[in-house]
Amino acid sequence: MLEKCLGVRKARQLYRFFRHCNVTFLCLLLTIIVLRGTIGAGKFGTPEQDFLEIRNHFSSRKLSEPHHLLEEVKSLSPSNSNSFNYANFDYKKFYYDDDTGVDVELSSSSGLLPYKLGLKVVDWDGRRENWLKEHPEMPNFIGEKKKPRVLLVTGSSPKPCESPVGDYYLLKSIKNKIDYCRLHGIEIFYNMALLDAEMSGFWSKLPLIRTLLLGNPEIEFLWWMDSDAMFTDMEFELPWERYEGYNLIMHGWKEMVFEQKNWIGLNTGSFLIRNCQWSLDLLDAWAPMGPKGKTRVEAGKVLSQELKGRPPFEADDQSAMVYLLAKNKEKWGEKVYLENSYYLHGYWGILVDKYEEMLENHHPGLGDDRWPLVTHFVGCKPCGVISDYPVERCLKHMERAFNFGDNQVLKMYGFSHVSLASRRVKKLRDETLKLDEVKDKQGIEATKAS
Ligand code: UDP
Ligand code: MN
Repeated sequence: MLEKCLGVRKARQLYRFFRHCNVTFLCLLLTIIVLRGTIGAGKFGTPEQDFLEIRNHFSSRKLSEPHHLLEEVKSLSPSNSNSFNYANFDYKKFYYDDDTGVDVELSSSSGLLPYKLGLKVVDWDGRRENWLKEHPEMPNFIGEKKKPRVLLVTGSSPKPCESPVGDYYLLKSIKNKIDYCRLHGIEIFYNMALLDAEMSGFWSKLPLIRTLLLGNPEIEFLWWMDSDAMFTDMEFELPWERYEGYNLIMHGWKEMVFEQKNWIGLNTGSFLIRNCQWSLDLLDAWAPMGPKGKTRVEAGKVLSQELKGRPPFEADDQSAMVYLLAKNKEKWGEKVYLENSYYLHGYWGILVDKYEEMLENHHPGLGDDRWPLVTHFVGCKPCGVISDYPVERCLKHMERAFNFGDNQVLKMYGFSHVSLASRRVKKLRDETLKLDEVKDKQGIEATKAS
C-alpha cells in the first residue's frame, strides 16, 4: 500500500519535472525567435517596441482570426481598446463642413435679387430632340410597347440621420425602391449631395430634378419619390398611356387644388415630371419661395394666409406647388394630371391599419386602396429628431409597410416574412417544388437532392 503510494508520488514528481522542462524550453525558443527577428532587422528595440511588434504580428491576422482572438489582442492594450469599438467612436468629428452645399454665390441671401435655379435654359425641346436623333441607341421610349424611359430619383440629407434607426429605414426604403425599379425596368438615382445650399431640406429636389433632366436627355419621365415613401404594390404598372399629353403627374384632386386652394390638395412626395421645356419653366416658377432664411420664412406666411388648412410654418415645396397651380391655372393647369384612381402617393395614416384586410381580400397589382402602390410616411421624419406623429407608431408601421412590399419580392423565391411585424422569414414551399419550377421555366435538368 505504502509502496503504491510512493510510486504515485514519484510519478507526479517526474510529470512535474517534464512539464517544467517543457515550459522552460518554450520560453527559450520564443526568446531566440524574438532576438533573431530584431537582430535580423538590424535593430534592437525596447521591450515595448518588441511587444508592439508581436502585437502587430497578431493583429495583422485579425481579418481571418475568430472573434475570441481579436478580444485577446485588444485586451493586451487596455489604453487602446476603445479604438476598435465603433460605438465609442465619435464619427461626427469627420463632418466639419456639413452645412455647405456646392460652392455657389448666394444670390438671394441679400434679398435684392430674386432666386434662380440657374441660367435660363431655352429651346430645351429642340436641343433634346437633336440629341435623341444623334443617339438612336438611347431612345426615350423603349421596348415593343414603347414605354417611356423613366428615372426614379430619391435622396436624403448628406448628413447621417440624427438617430441610427433613421439610417436603417433609409436603407430599407432604398432597397424597396430598387426592387420595384428592377421589376419594372426603371432606372434609379439616389442623391445625397446638396446641389444648392439655399435649397435645403424638402426644396433640395428642385435643383436636383433640373440637373438630372438636363443631364439625361434620354429620360422621358423623372419620377421623384421621397425617402419616406415605400412601394407596397410591387406589381402595379403605371398607366403610361393615360399621361400622353401631360407633363406633371401628381397625386391630388382638381377641386381641392384649383377651387379650394387646400394645402393638401396634392402631394409632392411621389410625382412624375416629363423631360421638356415646360417642366424646366415650371421648376423656375416653383423655386422662388425655396431659399432658406428670410425668403422661406416670409413666403411661409403668404402660403398660410392664402391656402386652406395650412398651419403656420416656413414655405414648403408642396404648398408652393398648390399656390402656383391655383394662381396660374391657365398657364399650368392644362398639362397637369392630378391622379387619384390609384395611390401614386398614399398617406400612411389611412392605409397601414388595413394591410391584414388587404392581404385577406385582395392581391397585388391593383395599386389603389385595395393594395396601395405607395405608402408615404408623411410627417414621420425618421431621419430627424422631432416627428409630427408618435415615433412608435411611425416605426412600427414603416416596418410593416416594408415587409408588406418585401413579401411580394420574397414570394418569387419561395419565402415570406413570418408576420408583417417580423424581420424573420419562413419558407413558403419546399425545395423540390422550387426545383421543378426552375426546370419547367428554363427547360434545364434540375438536380434534386435525394
Ligand atoms: N430630402 C433630401 N435631402 C434633405 C432632406 C430631405 O433629399 O436634406 C428629401 C427626402 O427624400 C425626403 C423629402 O426630401 O423624404 C421630403 O421630406 P420629408 O419626407 O421629410 O417631408 P414630408 O413628406 O414628411 O412632408
Ligand atoms: Mn415624405
